[in-house]
Amino acid sequence: MLSGCRRALPAALRLAVRGWAGGGGRRRVSTSWSPVGAAFDAKQQRSRLTGQSTGLFGVPELSSPEGFQEAQEKALQETEQLVQKACTTPPGPQIVMIFDQLSDALCRVADLADFVKIAHPDFAFREAAEETCRNIGTMVEKLNTNIELCQSLKQLLADKEVMDSLDPETRQVAELFMFDFEISGIHLDEEKRKRAVDLNVKILDLCNQFLIGAHLPNKIDKQILPEHIRYNFAVEGNYIQITGLHADCSDDLVREAAYKIFLYPNAEQLRCLEELLTSRNHLAQLVGYNTFAHRALQGTMARTPEKVMQFLETLSDRLFQRTLKDFEMMEGMKMKLNPQNSKLMPWDHPYYSGVLRAERYNIEPSLYCPFFSLGACMEGLNFLFNQLLGISLYAEQTEKGELWCEDVRKLAVVHENEGLLGYIYCDFYQRADKPHQDCHFTIRGGRLRKDGEYQLPVVVLMLSLPHSTKNSPTLLTPGMMENLFHEMGHAMHSMLGRTRYQHVTGTRCPTDFAEVPSILMEYFASDYRVVNQFARHFQTGQSLPKSMVSRLCESKKICAAADMQLQVFYAVLDQLYHGEHPLKRSTTEILKETQEKFYGLPYVPKTSFTEMQLLQKEPEGQTAHDLLPPYKSHQYNPLKQMDI
Ligand SMILES: [Zn+2]
Repeated sequence: MLSGCRRALPAALRLAVRGWAGGGGRRRVSTSWSPVGAAFDAKQQRSRLTGQSTGLFGVPELSSPEGFQEAQEKALQETEQLVQKACTTPPGPQIVMIFDQLSDALCRVADLADFVKIAHPDFAFREAAEETCRNIGTMVEKLNTNIELCQSLKQLLADKEVMDSLDPETRQVAELFMFDFEISGIHLDEEKRKRAVDLNVKILDLCNQFLIGAHLPNKIDKQILPEHIRYNFAVEGNYIQITGLHADCSDDLVREAAYKIFLYPNAEQLRCLEELLTSRNHLAQLVGYNTFAHRALQGTMARTPEKVMQFLETLSDRLFQRTLKDFEMMEGMKMKLNPQNSKLMPWDHPYYSGVLRAERYNIEPSLYCPFFSLGACMEGLNFLFNQLLGISLYAEQTEKGELWCEDVRKLAVVHENEGLLGYIYCDFYQRADKPHQDCHFTIRGGRLRKDGEYQLPVVVLMLSLPHSTKNSPTLLTPGMMENLFHEMGHAMHSMLGRTRYQHVTGTRCPTDFAEVPSILMEYFASDYRVVNQFARHFQTGQSLPKSMVSRLCESKKICAAADMQLQVFYAVLDQLYHGEHPLKRSTTEILKETQEKFYGLPYVPKTSFTEMQLLQKEPEGQTAHDLLPPYKSHQYNPLKQMDI
């Protein structure tokens, strides 16, 4: 694997570093850098207000929404020139370099737009970014089926002598580019290639439509809900808006109502889902795969759906008895708290497992929060990276127009010998219209440029943390702290996976490998030796007692089997939806059967998961991850289809 290693810092790449004057191993800090912890605990650190606007992320065109059009046109122009160049260059390492430049020209705009369309508070920016994503996406599909372009790569791959002379990294990247042509149907005749492009564009649109639908609240006549629970929801005239599952609410009836109403099947969403699955299947078959799952899994460590199903079935078998015990415990607790209605239902799982954890280990978040101020956690991460990797994080002053929201912080990631490695923008605080999803976005991939300088990677970490108040800084629950560590794992993967080519940089690796560094970071977040370094009471400075860290770790084992069983159920459902077509039953019937077989809690009639982001399947975007709050959400993967 090219980009997998966490410590992939090739000594060959001595970097030219902006704002960095490293030498003799002594660290000198740029004047615009400040300590990371203070930047997060202090009030607003504003961008420079004077001077000209630099544009979002320092991209000059993006000072206004209209700039997206300009950035897009520039990228498309550059693409055209590079395609020409690729088609006229003789076989050699140059070809791989040109392909990577081509991919970079498109990704630099598309990845940035992909983030802005989701996160910018200004609708005009979101709309412009969306349009750019669509146009560049279409261009990528066209290039992936461009015969002449493919031919130049083929010539290189066929030339044994030249191939043998290439270094392994260049060879592998050449093969990966060819793989992208193949899964896009380059081998087909012209008419079929055109159909593949059309299908890809249609799939992109359906995905967008499905995602928008998944976030929409469901509205019902308020008379339908018992009066005493209405206050839990937003009331609009005669209607009640249900925006989510209210999984943490202590009232069983509120959770039940939220579950049944929020997941009530929506005919339009169901149609969109089925059309999406059918289109994905058509595309996969058109380019020579049995199913979409085969196509999506080919480039991963798991490789085939057969292996995935085998793994999930074995896992499910092994979990089964333990899951039953967990459900029995939850049911026992429900019986104790609500004797009239003690049957365990799907809306009870997150809540009662939480009650059990709290009862056994007294892990009330409010006991922990004061020890986990955001500043302290960031210092903790800084300390950890320093010890493990010789890396420090500094808050950097931002320029006018660089940020989309003033509470975003920009971190410079600096290695003791290599210098500045890249930038992490921390978009950590809640705001209206911002998705409640913890995500990592690649904005720009790292690569060695032709002039010998290294293009520094830029990423965004998005969380939804509360703002500080008059009396306290932002305080994190243990769950939020763990998520912060997880997402930071993705960011560091992006900073450290320094490859010559951006096509395989950082998290642009097999999707099932991309979670490895982050899962490792979760282990650090629950190790006393790490936590003890930073968890200090924000008022008294007292450290978090060892017994409290142990209780937290022990509590994670409670109901862990049932939690994993739920993930198995989602994964199997994903496999079935993207498996053999035509589907033998409706998507809702498959959901019911799978839930009964692989989860164990009863299916609730008239619910479907079309309100959820179940179908985020690579290569269309996010990976399918944990679906029900309060389980963690995950990384936002770079659009793989952008990597032509
Ligand atoms: Zn993740």
